[in-house]
Amino acid sequence: MLSIVIPAYNEGETINIAADTISEILEKANVDYEIIFADDGSRDNTWDNICKRAARENSRIRGVRFSRNFGKEAAIFAGLEAAAKGGDESGENGCDCAVVIDCDLQHPPELILKMYELWKKGYEVVEARKSSRGRESPLYKLFAKTFYRLMKSSSGINLDGASDYKLLDRKVIDSLNELPERLTFFRALSAWVGYKTAVVEFEVQPRVHGTTKWSFSKLFKFAVSNITGFTNFPMHMMTAMGIIFMIFAVVLGIQTLVNFFSGYSVAGFSTVILLLLIIGSLLMLGLGIIGYYLSKIYEEIKFRPRYIVNESTNKATKAKKTKSTKGE
Ligand code: UDP
Ligand code: MG
Repeated sequence: MLSIVIPAYNEGETINIAADTISEILEKANVDYEIIFADDGSRDNTWDNICKRAARENSRIRGVRFSRNFGKEAAIFAGLEAAAKGGDESGENGCDCAVVIDCDLQHPPELILKMYELWKKGYEVVEARKSSRGRESPLYKLFAKTFYRLMKSSSGINLDGASDYKLLDRKVIDSLNELPERLTFFRALSAWVGYKTAVVEFEVQPRVHGTTKWSFSKLFKFAVSNITGFTNFPMHMMTAMGIIFMIFAVVLGIQTLVNFFSGYSVAGFSTVILLLLIIGSLLMLGLGIIGYYLSKIYEEIKFRPRYIVNESTNKATKAKKTKSTKGE
């Protein structure tokens, strides 16, 4: 079975559009599918809409709901875990492969069929890459480019044009679910696990409804967290700077000594102040970077779950069933 995993945060309006469009495409192509919504702690009617759909199309549509907003990453992983476990408790009619897609249909759903065909041909990961970045401000584009360049040069994972729109084989899903880390970056992790990969291209579509759920500060934190999550480059950078400064210090030290012994030792007050300022700020920067990694280690070592599931439609429909049988 093909599982479609959809993270949704305040997407009350788009839930039905997404469910309709995707079901129509897959039903036309005669594909056995299910749609799993991961409600990322929405504050609007997203969960009500998911429940309504789940009650109507019981076997095809289900959902899990977080206890609060844990972020898109957590929602994707919750969806994949729900897919792997299967709809019923036996976990028998589970998924063979899953497609992760945005709720706002910025990822064209027609592509699912193409990805599914590639999976049938034996590919285990099918990545959809953006051929253009859609409508974004120049500043946003600049930040995205810098981030991708940093990721590529430091960790070797090319994320240029990468999106969360991916098809994953069951094996890949299991590998991802087995990863013990709390701070995840789906886009890079699905490349990191390896497997036979195919790439398809797509044009980013405009949102069907509403606005983006990512603020600039959320994105910036996300970028910094992912760079540090995949590479120790910032720490190595500090070591390199330390070495450069040591060479500088030796040269300056020799010069100072020569000046001293030849009786030319000048006031040099401004040099002292400048050196103090530069070295002071570099030390602080270094400490900051070490502190950041330390805080990441701390977060991981706490072993808190990636997300907390508050409700799931399985239980809701089951409860209803037992209630109705009791009534009979
Ligand atoms: N999303 C989520 N949790 C969040 C933010 C976003 O699950 O905290 C979901 C959102 O509902 C959508 C997808 O992630 O299905 C992409 O979000 P959005 O369209 O806002 O991002 P953009 O397309 O602008 O990158
Ligand atoms: Mg979007």
